[in-house]
Amino acid sequence: MSKLLERDVWAMDRCAGCGLCIATCSKGMLHWDGEGGHPARETRQKTIGLTTIPLDSCTFCEVFCEETCPRLHEWEGLAARRVVSARTKGVTDSGEVNEVIKNLLIAALSTGLIDGAIMNCMDGWTMQPQAKVLTRVEEVADCLGMEGLWVPTLDVLNEAVYQRKLRRIAVIGPPCASEAIRTLLASQDERLNPYKEAIALRVAVFCTGVYYPSSVLQFLVEMVGVSRHDMKRIYTSPRDKELRVVLWNDSTKTVPLAKIERYTRPGCASCDDFLGESADIGVGKVGAKDGHSTLITRSEVGDLCLQNALDFGLLDVVEEVDDQALTRAKEEKERRDRAEAFDGLMLMMLDALREPRRRQEVKEQFVRLYEVDRMPERAEEGQRYDPCAGCQG
Ligand code: SF4
Ligand code: SF4
Repeated sequence: MSKLLERDVWAMDRCAGCGLCIATCSKGMLHWDGEGGHPARETRQKTIGLTTIPLDSCTFCEVFCEETCPRLHEWEGLAARRVVSARTKGVTDSGEVNEVIKNLLIAALSTGLIDGAIMNCMDGWTMQPQAKVLTRVEEVADCLGMEGLWVPTLDVLNEAVYQRKLRRIAVIGPPCASEAIRTLLASQDERLNPYKEAIALRVAVFCTGVYYPSSVLQFLVEMVGVSRHDMKRIYTSPRDKELRVVLWNDSTKTVPLAKIERYTRPGCASCDDFLGESADIGVGKVGAKDGHSTLITRSEVGDLCLQNALDFGLLDVVEEVDDQALTRAKEEKERRDRAEAFDGLMLMMLDALREPRRRQEVKEQFVRLYEVDRMPERAEEGQRYDPCAGCQG
């Protein structure tokens, strides 16, 4: 088993819940154990006589789980190429994030740019979100997409690649799903090529954290008094800091996100990508003109996909976006980056206690983070030691 995954991701509550390690595990050893914070590994044991010994089921494995986990790799965000406010045209006329994405995909499917899409949909009967492999325009149009509730998007990657044999797949999900795909595409391991060759497009929905769906549903039923049968769609609006429940009678109930904060996946606290900076296209409400969604392309594929939807007459765009709102979102990212670096420093310090050779590394990181010339040294004998000396407060 990858010790790194256990130590640096699972034990640190940093798992994004993307599901890629489960999809790529060569022995099928990983699975979700309910709404756990991270995947669980199947344990096997063997009884010899009166003794039962645990078996290391990961022996001789290429450790694909570690190779593909986005939390074990650092990525610079891709630069924005085109930033517009978009809304749908044609059959629907909407500025909702989900509708804009669906029209992008419908145009891409219709022209053969993609042959299928992995999307997070809401099951209209159980109200449980689930990742689905969709290959027909009607399926995409019917998807009651949801943003903000946790779904391990990439759990269904094997179904798309091996069972449905799709070769130009679009993956739509939170930014961490796009980061996971970016990690996969960057891998040099040829045994991951079947996945790499099958993924054509990454679309990310702006995200400030995802919530455990069962807990949110229970909260809505018990605390807000909405019956499950009345709910049509649930999604979050990070811009307005609200959870929205659309009912079948087309009215909408809203709940401040602060009230469901405790149902956030713990791993979201270590995510520093709000705007889908590893995706070909990011879509969200932050910065958008009224009645629109902001759409950011970050690659040639993203540009092509947007132009295709425009040519198809399914999207309308205006070059009017609140850049300051997007900058504020980026600043939040930097704040989290820094918080994570401090977490890392703490881990390094613990390591350095066991491994004195790491002390120099700790010193360098300390100086970088605290922006001081050196770590405070212990006072000479007889002098008073000021542990705060050198700190900028
Ligand atoms: S080490 Fe290999 S077998 Fe074990 S969980 Fe990771 S990918 Fe699966
Ligand atoms: S972040 Fe994704 S790949 Fe990494 S452990 Fe969590 S589910 Fe697996």
